[in-house]
Amino acid sequence: MTIKTANLGFPRLGKKREWKKAIESYWAQKINKAELDQTLQDLHKEIINVQKDHHVDQIPAGDFSLYDHVLDTSLLFNIIPERFQGRPVDDELLFDIARGNKDHVASALIKWFNTNYHYIVPEWDNVSPKLNHNVLLEKFNFTKAQGVNAHPVILGPITYVALSKGGEQSFDEKVRTLLPLYNEVFESLTKAGAGYIQVDEPILVTDQANELQAITKEAYEFFNKETPSTQIVLQTYFERVDLSFVAQLPVCGLGLDFVHDNGYNLQQIKDGLFPKDKVLFAGIIDGRNVWAANIEEKKLLIETLQSYVNEIVIQPSSSLLHVPVTLGEETLDNSIRDGLSFATEKLDELYALKQLFNEQDDTLYNQLKEQFERFENQSFKQLEYDYDSVKSERTTPFKERKIVQDQVLNLPDLPTTTIGSFPQSREVRKYRADWKNNRISDEQYETFLQNEIKRWIDIQEEIGLDVLVHGEFERNDMVEFFGEKLNGFLVTKFGWVQSYGSRAVKPPIIYGDVKWTEPLTVKETLYAQSLTDKPVKGMLTGPVTILNWSFERVDIPKSEVQDQIALAINEEVLALEEAGIKVIQVDEPALREGLPLRSEYHEKYLDKAVHSFRLSTSSVLDSTQIHTHMCYSQFGQIIHAIKSLDADVISIETSRSHGDLIKDFEDITYDLGIGLGVYDIHSPRIPTEEEITVAINRALQEIDRSLFWVNPDCGLKTRQEDEVKEALNILVQSVEKIRQDNAVKQPN
Ligand code: GLN
Ligand code: ZN
Repeated sequence: MTIKTANLGFPRLGKKREWKKAIESYWAQKINKAELDQTLQDLHKEIINVQKDHHVDQIPAGDFSLYDHVLDTSLLFNIIPERFQGRPVDDELLFDIARGNKDHVASALIKWFNTNYHYIVPEWDNVSPKLNHNVLLEKFNFTKAQGVNAHPVILGPITYVALSKGGEQSFDEKVRTLLPLYNEVFESLTKAGAGYIQVDEPILVTDQANELQAITKEAYEFFNKETPSTQIVLQTYFERVDLSFVAQLPVCGLGLDFVHDNGYNLQQIKDGLFPKDKVLFAGIIDGRNVWAANIEEKKLLIETLQSYVNEIVIQPSSSLLHVPVTLGEETLDNSIRDGLSFATEKLDELYALKQLFNEQDDTLYNQLKEQFERFENQSFKQLEYDYDSVKSERTTPFKERKIVQDQVLNLPDLPTTTIGSFPQSREVRKYRADWKNNRISDEQYETFLQNEIKRWIDIQEEIGLDVLVHGEFERNDMVEFFGEKLNGFLVTKFGWVQSYGSRAVKPPIIYGDVKWTEPLTVKETLYAQSLTDKPVKGMLTGPVTILNWSFERVDIPKSEVQDQIALAINEEVLALEEAGIKVIQVDEPALREGLPLRSEYHEKYLDKAVHSFRLSTSSVLDSTQIHTHMCYSQFGQIIHAIKSLDADVISIETSRSHGDLIKDFEDITYDLGIGLGVYDIHSPRIPTEEEITVAINRALQEIDRSLFWVNPDCGLKTRQEDEVKEALNILVQSVEKIRQDNAVKQPN
């Protein structure tokens, strides 16, 4: 049986982020709309041609977007947020919905399943769904016109509705409203020559899938009945599906993920659940990580699949949107390059397999196989670790530690602090960039950092905060900074992936064993401490977050990588402690977002996360106060894990949802130190003294005063200096009044 290859989506960004640059230049009015359109069209062509040059049999059309594919779907079906209705549906409207304008706020952004991509949440309040200008048809025709076999890609109705919010209608009613509109689009595409249409329904891999079965069945039966000539491939990714259910749907093909399914998709196929009359679109090449495939293993997988199904198309496990474009522009040591594969290189892997199976030509296959084997045997993957000498739990219980810490730190009632970063002004960013590009000397850079630290220590003293921070001016990003300094991490030059809209991130790549070799943050922290008698808090990123925001290696279990990072952070914690730092914060903002898609894996994930956090923070003296920080407010299902972290103080975001959060903490009698964010740092608005006082007093009704800290929601790096000073002054004044009132009430 011959096999074909297909792709599900290609990164939009361009090799050197041309996409981002063009769009942002347009926003800044540096280029006009015609220039933007032309640049994007050229880029789109380039993307199609890369796939063509790599002999992809089926190239997606519709994945290339001006901002986000979910937003594209909203515009296609006229699901326009109420506040933006009544305007022509064009690119200006699209940008306004995504970014907000002077009159209206933007639509919300939410993480796309368990990736670091964010989509624009569709809003259903008072919408009038209809088929707008058929942009998908245009994209399909454009792609085909480049002389390739294209298939349209569209987000399916079940997933689309599941990701939306608002509106009076029920879930099923919303789907039913959309079905005829989808149908119209399908018909137009089939008429235009589409062989099949890739309909993405990733929601079917989540826990929610069960309750959606009836409406899913109804939807796909409707399509089959109304447009029998349309060939639909139901595409899933990121986890397993319930094959016995999707097998019954009247579609011509099923797209399954064989990389992130924990083995279950393959198992179901071996159990004979794959229907003989459907084509299997087998996602065998990891679409969301940067590793070269173990090509021999892939060959065996194809052989196994062939014995169970009649027709196979091989493809990446998901859209390649989640990986960088190409290795081509990187200067890398061959020992590492051998192991990597970005979007373009993944197409080579598919081609190698196709040639092997269809032409019995193993040239490319053998080359990739050798590269993979060389990489597997590199010495940077075989380090030894001594886990036994590192504690995974603090020996003294919190209550006793607290007594010692209170003596050492001698903090006032309701201590105040901040989350770590101060404004990353244009000047700060410029100095960092100049230093990176060798335009200024190490000395000049360090002098600048010291001046900035000193300036902000003075500001904090003046304001009257109790636990100070150095301000994190040396950090571009809370993960990349550590990635640049720890062994085992690679920071690429162009390894960007889209995070949301025109925003891209460059996650470090963990290619080998992680090791700490020298202090990372001690110099700056110590300098700050030398300027003040108040305690300066050391600032680190925790192992769970570093792992979650990096590309992690997959040849050893994820939890092992996480523990290696934990040991490295532990070294840094101890180095800070040894240097005399008494308060150390280990941030874990990504702890909750790392939760697996299927809840059956949650407990194990949380256990491992807690273990790693504790490995990195438990070897300190009783007198060293460990803080952690998380930037969200719904703890519900993870609150037990949060308590098990056993951090002396946790600071969290709450200003936008006070009541709910406190309830989570009350329900399990959280009896460790807790700092509630008393004002929202995401907005330039300065809080009033009254607001802060109300927030504190409300919290104090539920939380033991001796455990309570006062702080802003999150780091202040995106704010203006004046805003920060004013807001923190008000925060401290509010606290001082509450302290005085209390002193009057309780004379002793
Ligand atoms: N310490 C970091 C900062 O203040 C925390 C950032 C975060 O929570 N995402 O910037
Ligand atoms: Zn935060």
